[in-house]
Amino acid sequence: MTTAPVFSSYVIADPCIGVKDGTCVEVCPVDCIETTPDETQFFIDPELCIACEQCVLVCPVDAIYLVHEVPEQWKGSIETNAAFFLRAKEEAPSVSLEQAEAMIEAARSRATEIGIKVAVAVLDRNCAVVAEDSDTSVEHDDVARNKAYTAVTFELATTAITDRLVESPPAGIEPDASRVVRDAGGLPFGRPYVLGAIGVAGGTPEQDLECGRVAVTTLWPD
Ligand code: SF4
Ligand code: SF4
Repeated sequence: MTTAPVFSSYVIADPCIGVKDGTCVEVCPVDCIETTPDETQFFIDPELCIACEQCVLVCPVDAIYLVHEVPEQWKGSIETNAAFFLRAKEEAPSVSLEQAEAMIEAARSRATEIGIKVAVAVLDRNCAVVAEDSDTSVEHDDVARNKAYTAVTFELATTAITDRLVESPPAGIEPDASRVVRDAGGLPFGRPYVLGAIGVAGGTPEQDLECGRVAVTTLWPD
């Protein structure tokens, strides 16, 4: 008898080809299922999948398997799924200073409209600060940076970070626990791949989130 690793990942195999209806994307809690218009199927990012099985339950063609249970004839899908994300991450451009400044401007503009002072930080996907601005305290500056750090590290909004993710992060993610912030206001951006994250601090969590959302949708509309 073999024991499945706690964070084994799932793989999308050939039955998805030509169907590609995206049903699984809607139920994935960590947004780790992606494709592009040129691809004939969806893929699962093995670094982010938390093996929750939700996608398996909704797939109309039984295309999704645990990595060690992929049928022999579709074993190549394991490599194909991983390669899709590796290639995408290598080829994805970094967030530019112009993009970062545009987001900061949008966030600060919204903050002014709702009458709050905020710190805003934009980090690239390697957690380096690309741009930041603040008209509030140094403490808020740190929180804004750490919200962005958390969002880009997990490739999730700060509000989606669970105890389980922090205690047992997916393979390839090694968060600095002292920098993990779970209050609203940290959002990853970029589509279809995460290019970085924005962090906003200074208002209530809801206000910070509102400013962050306005900033991200300035460049990546819903
Ligand atoms: S098993 Fe869960 S986390 Fe993994 S791809 Fe499916 S829905 Fe997403
Ligand atoms: S639900 Fe199944 S068929 Fe639909 S996109 Fe996902 S893996 Fe492909």
